[in-house]
Amino acid sequence: MKIIYADHAATTRVKPEVLEKMRPYLTEEYGNPSSLYGFSYNSKRAVEQARENIAGLIGADVKEVYFTGCGTESDNWAIKGAAWANGKKGKHMITSKTEHHAVLHTCQYLEKQGFDVTYLDVDKDGFINPDELIKAIRPDTILITIMFANNEIGTIMPISEIGRIARERSILFHTDAVQAAGHVPIDVNAMNIDMLSISGHKLGAPKGVGVLYIRKGVKIESLMHGGGHERGKRAGTENVPHIVGLGEAARLAKAYMDENIKKVTAMRDRLIDGILKIPYTRLTGPTENRLPGLASFVIEAVEGEAMLLKLFEYGICASSGSACSSGSLDPSHVLLAIGYPHHIAHGSLRLSIGEENTDEEIDRIIEAVPEVVKKLRDMSPVWENGKPAWA
Ligand code: PLP
Repeated sequence: MKIIYADHAATTRVKPEVLEKMRPYLTEEYGNPSSLYGFSYNSKRAVEQARENIAGLIGADVKEVYFTGCGTESDNWAIKGAAWANGKKGKHMITSKTEHHAVLHTCQYLEKQGFDVTYLDVDKDGFINPDELIKAIRPDTILITIMFANNEIGTIMPISEIGRIARERSILFHTDAVQAAGHVPIDVNAMNIDMLSISGHKLGAPKGVGVLYIRKGVKIESLMHGGGHERGKRAGTENVPHIVGLGEAARLAKAYMDENIKKVTAMRDRLIDGILKIPYTRLTGPTENRLPGLASFVIEAVEGEAMLLKLFEYGICASSGSACSSGSLDPSHVLLAIGYPHHIAHGSLRLSIGEENTDEEIDRIIEAVPEVVKKLRDMSPVWENGKPAWA
């Protein structure tokens, strides 16, 4: 069975060009970049080239790019590091209710350490209201951490506005750009971003490598202590092949961004139009300021998990926000935050496409989803006379 991969927000395939760039650093070029002899020089140079490519992707200086083990580590480092470095100045932080758990659980951990966190509400499309952000700021606010783009519903937050608000008040601004980096333009200077998280596996590099951008002059505590790697800020021998892969993925993302956005947005919109023909189906997230590849829905009177299992019978890989990785059956915190009741949030479906997808695959998905939904509704106790029991 041919796989139709429509889960690029979960992870992406390592691009062939990326693998080719990585290969020598998995084989002949295995020197430790910290070693002093000439053999390790190529490893060191390759890491620095990758750093340059990342800097180029987000408009940063190379000295502001730090490699990490994943997006989760970058988020943890930014938030805990800022909290610990600034705890004497203040104990208050602001975030939103729709952040990824890498941010939410880090904030909850810091609450247990005596920090105070405001979780901003979002509107029905997932946007925070900048006026509410201003109202939430207190004299002891030390950090604002708001995601660049949401992983479940694709909402691109008003980052420039948030950055301006933070900068005018000299408050640090971190953004989790794991879903955005390489997919939409980012300029850390124009957007007044102080710290930004990236994860390799969302843009065609391998899993297990990330970046934290830290603006020059921003002081944060380290999470990892040990050797003097990453200019003394993040100890641990660099994962050279993965870093090289991320650097190449960043270079490709920048070079082809306009083309990819156009192609992927067109496929996404066709997918949205097709899926919305199913009765009692709604788009979740906005129609404007939305991630190019992300189409997300709630389909009433079907269970998200059942839909995923059935879709895979057609070879289609998709996602649902209705159960988190812990196996809990709680509906997605994001769908609840944008106002859906539990029984509707349970029918969530996320299809996230990439530039590798084809128009034929989109056609297949548009055919398969209504078939799957019909089968499930026919068996459902809450589907009566052609409508949900609550309609
Ligand atoms: N933040 C967001 C918005 C994400 O979507 C993800 C992964 O799904 C992460 C953080 C975590 O990144 P990683 O898988 O590299 O730890």
